[in-house]
Amino acid sequence: MKRKFETKAIHIGNKADSESGAVTPAIHLSSTFKQDEIGKDRGYDYSRAGNPTRSRFEENIASLENGSNGISFSSGMSAISALFQTLNSGDHIILSRNVYGGTYRVAVEVFARQGLVFDFVDTTDINNIKSNIKPNTKWIFIETPTNPLLEVSDINSISLLCLNNNIKLNVDNTFLSPYAQSPLTLGADCVMHSTTKFIGGHSDVLGGVLITNNEKLSSDLRFIQKSVGAVPSPFDCWLLLRSTKTLALRVGQSSRTASMIAIELDSHSQVEKVIYPGLESHPGHEIAKMQQLTPDGEPIFGSMISIVLKSKEACDLFLKKTKIFTLAESLGGVESLICSPYHMTHVSVPQNIKEEIGLPPELLRLSIGIEHADDILNDILQAL
Ligand SMILES: *Cc1c(COP(=O)(O)O)cnc(C)c1O
Repeated sequence: MKRKFETKAIHIGNKADSESGAVTPAIHLSSTFKQDEIGKDRGYDYSRAGNPTRSRFEENIASLENGSNGISFSSGMSAISALFQTLNSGDHIILSRNVYGGTYRVAVEVFARQGLVFDFVDTTDINNIKSNIKPNTKWIFIETPTNPLLEVSDINSISLLCLNNNIKLNVDNTFLSPYAQSPLTLGADCVMHSTTKFIGGHSDVLGGVLITNNEKLSSDLRFIQKSVGAVPSPFDCWLLLRSTKTLALRVGQSSRTASMIAIELDSHSQVEKVIYPGLESHPGHEIAKMQQLTPDGEPIFGSMISIVLKSKEACDLFLKKTKIFTLAESLGGVESLICSPYHMTHVSVPQNIKEEIGLPPELLRLSIGIEHADDILNDILQAL
C-alpha cells in the first residue's frame, strides 16, 4: 500500500540498524569503507562519493517530494550550483526575477563569467517566459512563492510550456517545503530546497538538496556531487533525517498561525500592506489555492508573511519592540524570525533592480514559528 507523507517521513530511510537493532539510525562518520576484495565493496567506497547516512536522508527526502532520486549538498547554494554545473558554456537559463538574493549573485557573478547566459523575468506571467525562450534555453528556474514578495507562478502551466519547447523546469520549493507544495507532481523536472530552512527546521544545520524523477538528470547531478564534492556531513544528514519526521507538524502549525496573523494584520491601521498568498487580495491567491496543497489535498499558504509599514522609522521601532521575534536572516525554523530583506538578504541585489521588482525599504519579512499563536500575534500587536 502506498504510504502517506507523515508515515514516509518517519519510516523511509529510518530502518532499525541491522547490526545492533538501534531504532535511530547510526551516524556513519567513516570517510572510507572496507572492500572485501579488489573491485568488490558493499555499496560504499569513499564518503564523498557516497555515505550510508547521506543515502538514508536522500531516500527519505526524495520520497517526501514524490521523486525517485535525491541528491544532497552542503548548502542550498551548492545545490543550485550543481544544477548549473550540469550545463555548458552558451546555455541559456530563465529565472524568476525575484529569486533568492544568493541565486541571483551566483548566476550573475559566478556562472555568467563562465559562459552561462541568464535572463531574469517576471514568471508570474507566462508570456514573459514565452517571449524570452531562445534556441539555447535549457532550464527555467522558478521560485514560488518568491522571497520576500511571495509572488506565485503557475508551476503546471510553465511545465507544459517547457515540455513543448524541450526545456527543463526547476522549482525552488524552499518557502513551502514538500509538505505544502509538490512541484514534481505538477510537472516540474527538478525540485530544489535549501534544507537549512523548513526541512532542517531548527536553525542548526546548513544544507541543500535536488530531487528528480529523471534518471539522466539524476546521474548527471550525482556526477557533479562526487566530482565537485560539496557534500553534506554525515552529522548534518542525520540532523535532517530527524527533522523531516516532524516536518508535517511544524509546517502545518506555523502555516495555520500565519494565516490567522495575516488576516489580523490586513485590517491594522499601522500596516500599509500585508503580502500573503492566503489573502484573497493577493494577486496569486487563485493559483496558490490550486497548487499549494498539503499531501491530503488541502490548500495551505505557508508560514511566510511580508508586511509593509509606513516608514523606515516605524520599522526600526517595531524591530526594537518585538520580544518573541528575533531579527535574523533565514526562515523556516521553530522560532519566529523577522528580517528586513532590503537591508539584509537582498543587500547584494542592485538598488535599481530592487525598485523594479517592488521591494521597498519599509518591507519586513516574518517567518512564523511554532510558538503559541496567541503569543506571536500579541507580540506583533504590542510592537505595532
Ligand atoms: C536560503 C535559500 C537559498 C540558499 O540556501 P543556503 O542553504 O543558504 O545556501 C536558496 N533559495 C531560497 C529560497 C532560500 O531561502
